[in-house]
Amino acid sequence: MTRSVALVTGAGSGLGFAVVEHLRSLGWAVAGVDLKAGESPADLIFTADIADQSQVETTVAATIEKFGQLDAVVNCAGIFIDALTPVEVFSRTSWDRTIAVNLTACFLLARASLPHLKHTGGSIVFIASTAARVPSPGAGAYAASKAGAVALAKTIALEYGRFGVRSNAILPGYMNTPMAAPALSKTEVKTEIEARIPIGRVAEPQEVARLVGFLVSDSGRYLTGEEIAFDGAKSLTAFTEPADIDRMWRRAERIRSQVQ
Ligand code: NAD
Repeated sequence: MTRSVALVTGAGSGLGFAVVEHLRSLGWAVAGVDLKAGESPADLIFTADIADQSQVETTVAATIEKFGQLDAVVNCAGIFIDALTPVEVFSRTSWDRTIAVNLTACFLLARASLPHLKHTGGSIVFIASTAARVPSPGAGAYAASKAGAVALAKTIALEYGRFGVRSNAILPGYMNTPMAAPALSKTEVKTEIEARIPIGRVAEPQEVARLVGFLVSDSGRYLTGEEIAFDGAKSLTAFTEPADIDRMWRRAERIRSQVQ
């Protein structure tokens, strides 16, 4: 049987690295691409800038040349720069780079890959962020880029469903990766972040990778055009103070003790 073939961006770090490992453990052949390939476990690794059209097209062509087909594309590469900068002082350069890497690159890769995915009835996964739904102050470019990626994922689901091609977006909350390390490496900050997540902790990249594995597999064959929050219910607390939930549980304890 021919092995399924995936192309994973951001394969040298964090989630992309975990996705490569997971898909390989499921028997997939995996090509990875990253600005810094590092120690990526991919079968074939390209060092390239995915915001550059010709580098994207070369990467897809070389993947097809090596493996002969393409069954899945997973957009993990992303950047989060100039945090805590309000719109009026956010630089045009940082805006352009954020949109180029987090959104335009997804378009370029989809455009180059879809002719091949039509042959295999393959699928695309976009790693967006809960910021697509619930932006944080000071990160407008990031939120806009991720909301754009979700819209692109849904558009492709509409356009390519007739070819059996599926397209979905995952919206992670905090993940324990190098991108989040500046915050999560400080114990007090991590504790404060986790106190605001109903499930009580940040996600491990391997947990998100397992969802990617499901979405690109035959088990997910009727799942398309979806945006799946993977955030321990964090985005549901946007308008609810965690303190409100604490208060509710204290009341539940009182009710339970009165009943007994
Ligand atoms: P990471 O920084 O560990 O990995 C991102 C990888 O993308 C890096 O290896 C980097 O070199 C690569 N990359 C960046 N720009 C590139 C380019 N132009 N061309 C090729 N490769 C490029 O981050 P991560 O946490 O693994 O992030 C994975 C995805 O998850 C990103 O899209 C990110 O926005 C998203 N996300 C992360 C978190 C989090 O808390 N870590 C939360 C929500 C969403």
